[in-house]
Amino acid sequence: MRRVFVAGNWKMNLSLREARELAATLKAEFGSEERVDVGVFPPYVYLEQVAQVVQGSRIRLGAQDVYLQEKGAFTGEVSPGMLLDVGCTWTIVGHSERRHVIGETDELIAGKAKAAAGAGLGVILCVGEILEERKSGRTTQVVRTQVEKGLVGLSAAQMKGVVIAYEPVWAIGTGVNASPADANEVHEFIRGLLAAKFGREIADDTTIQYGGSVRPENTVDLMSQPHVDGALVGGASLAADSFIGIVRNTIQAKGLGDAGKKHGRR
Ligand code: PEP
Repeated sequence: MRRVFVAGNWKMNLSLREARELAATLKAEFGSEERVDVGVFPPYVYLEQVAQVVQGSRIRLGAQDVYLQEKGAFTGEVSPGMLLDVGCTWTIVGHSERRHVIGETDELIAGKAKAAAGAGLGVILCVGEILEERKSGRTTQVVRTQVEKGLVGLSAAQMKGVVIAYEPVWAIGTGVNASPADANEVHEFIRGLLAAKFGREIADDTTIQYGGSVRPENTVDLMSQPHVDGALVGGASLAADSFIGIVRNTIQAKGLGDAGKKHGRR
């Protein structure tokens, strides 16, 4: 059974104090949450401090990127082993801002995914089309290329630690989300690609998150879709109230229990 995973990508935002406070609030709210996975992805420089805050809880901690080499003369880069060292269990690779602002290629992203998975980190591989590609009917072609190339070199066993995030670039930070039906259609297409490459069982067990202007108000509609298994949240993950609302509404949409209650507290 695939897990539902709601992750907050903090990007290059928050002060250290704000990052610690947000992490502490989420720990208090979801530190024992078992129905869904909740994760935070702070800037590199805050990882160790946030790790200390969420230590001993079920909050997942991840980095926003990783490099494909373990050590050496790679100025400015951070290796999978370093992320593990400071308490990360996850990393994002191939975020649209890495692809379209920094200029990362599918080949580099695949190298990062392989290195991270090989080191034992969970990997969120982001894929998604830009507006021109959607308008010209090339969404599935673009997504196919990014999924197939991004997973080159990953074994079926390593796929257990891989999440795909479908993030249409035109929906990121714009306030315009993909319609629930459109998101579900692309997620189903991605699951088909995974089935062709790794087999039906792995495809059915792989979590596919949606990302792009997820807000508490649109969460129930998006997360009610059968192939949408959680969210990668940017802007709305920076305020405790909105991120908590998204997680609670996800729990409700997935029929996982009374979202008003905190379950599984020890
Ligand atoms: C993101 O950057 O991964 C993202 C989905 O951002 P936002 O939620 O702000 O659209």
